Amino acid sequence: MTTPNLFYSDLKDSYLFYNIAQKTKAYLNEHPDTHLYRMGIGDVSLPLCGAVIEALHEAVDDQAQAGTFHGYMPECGAPFLREAIAEYYRTRGVTLSPDEVFVSSGASDELGDILDLFDRSNTSLVIEPAYPAYVDANIMGGRKIVHVSSGRENGFLPAPDDNIKADILYICSPNNPTGAVFNRTQLKEWVDYANRNGSVILFDAAYEAFIEDDSLPHSIFEIDGARTCAIEICSLSKTAGFTGTRLGYTVIPKELERRGMNLNSMWVRNRTTKTNGVSYIIQKGAAAVFTSEGQQQIHSNIRIYKQNAACLMSAFDELGIWYCGGKNAPYIWIKCPDGLTSWEFFDLLLNEIQVVGTPGQGFGECGEGYFRFSTFGSPEDTKIAAERIKQLLKK
Ligand code: PLP
Repeated sequence: MTTPNLFYSDLKDSYLFYNIAQKTKAYLNEHPDTHLYRMGIGDVSLPLCGAVIEALHEAVDDQAQAGTFHGYMPECGAPFLREAIAEYYRTRGVTLSPDEVFVSSGASDELGDILDLFDRSNTSLVIEPAYPAYVDANIMGGRKIVHVSSGRENGFLPAPDDNIKADILYICSPNNPTGAVFNRTQLKEWVDYANRNGSVILFDAAYEAFIEDDSLPHSIFEIDGARTCAIEICSLSKTAGFTGTRLGYTVIPKELERRGMNLNSMWVRNRTTKTNGVSYIIQKGAAAVFTSEGQQQIHSNIRIYKQNAACLMSAFDELGIWYCGGKNAPYIWIKCPDGLTSWEFFDLLLNEIQVVGTPGQGFGECGEGYFRFSTFGSPEDTKIAAERIKQLLKK
C-alpha cells in the first residue's frame, strides 16, 4: 500500500485566517449591510501599473505571430528578465551574474521548493513571530525546527546565539508580520554566524521595495560574506501588485557550496527537472517593472500604501501605543492596549468599530499580546479605521 508523507500529520491546523474569517462572517450575519474596515489583508488593492499592462499586451500580441511567438521558456528564466534583475541589483551596488538569478512564479512557491536542496537531517531555525509557511514547509519535509522568539526588548530583531545550532536559517526583512528591518550590523552578525557554522540563510526579501531609510539593506548581498552563505528569495507580489499575476525571483550565488556541492548548479538541475519555466507573457510584464518608467510607477503605488501607514502610525502615536514597522514595511505591529490578548483586541475592534486586523498570536506564541495592521487597504477605509481606533481607545 502507498505510504503518504507521514510528516503531514505533524502539521497543526492553521486557525489564524480561518478564525478571522469565521468571526467576521458571524458578525456580518448578525449585522447585515455593515461595512467592515479590513486592515488584516495581505493582498494588494491597487491594480498593475501602466508600464506592466502595456508590456503584457505587447507580449500577448507577440504570441499571435509566428515570428514573435514563444513556446517553452528557459527553465531558470528568460535572459532578458534575469539581466534586468541583475541590473536592478547593480543600481544598489550588488554585482550579480544573470545566471545567479532564477525566475520563479512567486516567493511562496520558491520557499517550499528550495528545500529540495537540503537534506532532511538539517535543522531549520525560524525567528518568531513568523510568516507561517516557513514552519509548515519544514514540517512537511520532516525537518527539526528551532523556534527563536523575538520581542519588544530586541525590536523583534534577535541576534544569533552561538549556543543554538541550526543549518537553515530563515530571515525575513522587512518582516512579515512585525515590519521590523535588520540593519547592516545586525545582518552581518547573522552572516558571520552562518559562515562560522556552515549554515545557509534563506533571506526572504519580499518587502524590500518598501524600505525608505537609505541606511537599511534591501538585499543580504549588500553584506560582506553573504555570497558564501545566503540565498535570497524575492517577489513582485507586493512590490508591483503581482499577487494574482505571479512572479518572483531567487538569487543563488555561485560561491555557495556545502560539502563540495554547488547550490547554484544544483538549483539549475532542479529547475530543469521540475519546471518548464514561467510564461513568456508574465516575464515580459515583470521586465517592465525594472524599467525606469516601471520603477517610478510602482513606487507611486507604494507611496499610497505608505500614506496608509502614516495615517495609522499617527493614530498610534497620538494614543501612545507602542508599535514597530510601518516606515520601511507595509505592516504595523502594535502592542495591544490595556494588557488585552491578541484575540481580545481583535474582538474589541470588530464588535465596537468594525475594524478587522490580524491577531499577533497567530504568528507564533511570542506574538501573543500584539496585533498586525496591513497598509494594503484603500486610503478611504484606512483613514476611517484610524479615526475609529482613536475614538475607541481614547475612551
Ligand atoms: N514571503 C513573505 C514574508 C510574505 O509575506 C509573502 C506573502 O504574503 C510571501 C513570501 C509570498 O509571496 P508570493 O506572493 O510571491 O508567493
